[in-house]
Amino acid sequence: MLIDTYGRVATDLRVSLTDRCNLRCTYCMPEEGLQWLGKSDLLTDDEIVRLISIAVTELGITEVRFTGGEPLLRPGLVGIVERCAALTPRPQMSLTTNGIGLKRTATALKAAGLDRVNVSLDTLRPDVFKTLTRRSRHQDVLDGMAAARDAGLTPVKVNAVLMPGLNDNEAPDLLAWAVENDYELRFIEQMPLDAQHGWKRDGMITAGDILESLRTRFTLTEEGDTARGSAPAERWVVDGGPHRVGVIASVTRPFCGACDRTRLTADGQVRTCLFAREESDLRAALRSDATDQEIAELWKVAMWGKKAGSGLDDPTFLQPDRPMSAIGG
Ligand code: SAM
Ligand code: SF4
Repeated sequence: MLIDTYGRVATDLRVSLTDRCNLRCTYCMPEEGLQWLGKSDLLTDDEIVRLISIAVTELGITEVRFTGGEPLLRPGLVGIVERCAALTPRPQMSLTTNGIGLKRTATALKAAGLDRVNVSLDTLRPDVFKTLTRRSRHQDVLDGMAAARDAGLTPVKVNAVLMPGLNDNEAPDLLAWAVENDYELRFIEQMPLDAQHGWKRDGMITAGDILESLRTRFTLTEEGDTARGSAPAERWVVDGGPHRVGVIASVTRPFCGACDRTRLTADGQVRTCLFAREESDLRAALRSDATDQEIAELWKVAMWGKKAGSGLDDPTFLQPDRPMSAIGG
């Protein structure tokens, strides 16, 4: 299995399928986009499936989350999901997406074996969406979410990031809308992972701010510490239930001690943490005819080097070279 020196065991694998995206969220990417990975740098579909197969059969991974960039831009996505669904043991599979394109692909993804989706949506207002993402695709995201729910990719979880002066007054509206549509809303604190390095700790909306705002309209009851487990979201019961709301307080209440993740970038680098500054090159091993056992061994060595925490609170903290879109959030 994948174990580190602090005794944490990784069972959850995040796989980035591309670093490209059709949105330009201000907290993630600059308006002009980024220098994208070249085709030969990207893992092929066969290489991705082989690495996931090693992770599942040799290393104890039980959950696989496809992400990006925008994973729906990967042409082979449905085939990758289908081949991973045929693995023994079969991993749980989910997808984190901006939702554009889900209307077209939700049924095929479900048929291929995908279990559920997380769709990112920060605002209910099309004009604010345009400012935040620099694209006019709000309705496409809403349509995509509905398609995912109708296709049975449930529970549909919604990720929202609040930005000061833009959508920070929308928390209660977003929750009312999520409850009405049977989506499970989770707020994510903005992290220093934007390509532009524009994040400021004193400017961010904290979990405390979000809860205070939600409590102006809803009664929130803590689910209790045991419910969080290794899940990053702390969850609250909304108005006595059954709906819940989550807050992922990566900055103000980090959950590193219970982290169960390992990450694979679209160019085949293992990262043990979003904030890691080191990577291990599995692509080079794949392309030099390493055996499954040799690749599994490299992955274990990488995991053994996992740091205790993100280092965000350390005065010497340095943002990783890769932005969120190239790591796979
Ligand atoms: N494009 C897909 C999407 O937006 O869902 C998948 C990749 S995106 C990098 C994954 C998640 O990271 C999204 O929910 C997005 O809101 C979140 N994210 C991106 N940059 C972030 C930042 N600086 N801080 C916190 N969350 C961020
Ligand atoms: Fe694209 Fe997701 Fe980054 Fe937005 S958060 S720019 S949708 S990768």
